[in-house]
Amino acid sequence: MTLDPPTILALTVALAAAAALYLAVEWRSVREPSLLFWSAGFATITLGSTLALLRSSGFLMIGIWFANGLLVAAHLLFLLGVARFTQVRLSRLWWLLLVAWLGMLMLPADLPWSKAMLGVQSLLVALPTLRASFLLRPHGKSLSIGAVQLRYVLLIHGVFYLAKALSVLIPGTLIDLAAFKGEIIQVSLVEGAMAIMLIALSMTGSERYRREQQIARLAARDPLTALYNRRALDLRAPRLLAQVSPAQPGALLLIDIDNFKGVNDLYGHTAGDRLLIALSEMIRSVVPRGALAARLGGDEFVILLTPASSEQIIELGSSLRDQFYQLAAQTVPTPQPVTLSIGANLFDQPPASLTALIEQGDTTLYESKRGGRDSIRLVDRRTMQAP
Ligand code: GH3
Ligand code: MG
Repeated sequence: MTLDPPTILALTVALAAAAALYLAVEWRSVREPSLLFWSAGFATITLGSTLALLRSSGFLMIGIWFANGLLVAAHLLFLLGVARFTQVRLSRLWWLLLVAWLGMLMLPADLPWSKAMLGVQSLLVALPTLRASFLLRPHGKSLSIGAVQLRYVLLIHGVFYLAKALSVLIPGTLIDLAAFKGEIIQVSLVEGAMAIMLIALSMTGSERYRREQQIARLAARDPLTALYNRRALDLRAPRLLAQVSPAQPGALLLIDIDNFKGVNDLYGHTAGDRLLIALSEMIRSVVPRGALAARLGGDEFVILLTPASSEQIIELGSSLRDQFYQLAAQTVPTPQPVTLSIGANLFDQPPASLTALIEQGDTTLYESKRGGRDSIRLVDRRTMQAP
């Protein structure tokens, strides 16, 4: 099979233009700067590949030197996009690659010119591409599937260009940039077309996966306190409840602020919000690892934990009540004290449902409120009492 370089180049121009447009449209809807850098990178490749077509018409300076320089610039733009995506500041030294491109003009004519040009240019493409792949390593946090794809596609593309740079050292290889002659150039043109597709796809993929994760995170959290909301609790509770057994009891604590309306009435809604946030931070600081804490709505919070014991629940509840009472009395004193009522249930069988468990908690909380508020009430529903 003979590959006709101008045809492959024309296809490359079309693919790169489509990729640039696709990423630009994606950017218009989500405004992530990395998409704009990547789109600009593909636009640069479109221009460079179009200029490369001029070689056949004898425009060697524009068709080789200028086109290759644009390819280096495009990969620098890819690197800038990845740096934005991973929020890493790049050293300014990367701009030296463009200076090195200018330096290629000075290559003495008595060298095997095509080989030297291809070697230097391939190295200038390989370096930013491999750096971009390296930036996408998981730094202690897991990467989304899209970012992992992009990392490997860039790695393979970078290694390919490194191999291409080294290939010029093999004696006897035919490289004629002006006439597109030599297998390395032909293989490289095909690789270029494939790389455009794969890189553009994984670029949009990385941004989309990240957005999906952000949306999922937002959907699971109460916007004021950033604790889980009821929906997230519904999703996560079954796994925790399934672990409950006589040997490992579980507990649900329902917490409601007493006389909270007074804070809003006297100090305003913002002061009320601040108190809700402070309570959520106290809850976060007292819950054991693996426990679930959520805001059910208004001034009502829930803690679900296993293993649990009555002593632990009383201790946890008392600690919360003391901290909260002191904060409220100091910051938003009201005629009717702003305190916490807690209804807790201890159980040793997985309940029928979370809703059933919360209803039990509601009943216990109501008893605590009716008993004069500012108290914790614990109902031990274990069927097998510890000796
Ligand atoms: P009780 O002692 O019986 O619990 O009465 P309470 O004054 O605490 O009022 P209740 O629990 O019946 O109602 C909760 C109040 O919390 C109602 C509403 O004014 C207020 N609230 C609900 N959500 C928010 C919020 O997001 N921010 C603020 N600032 N207030 C809220
Ligand atoms: Mg209340």
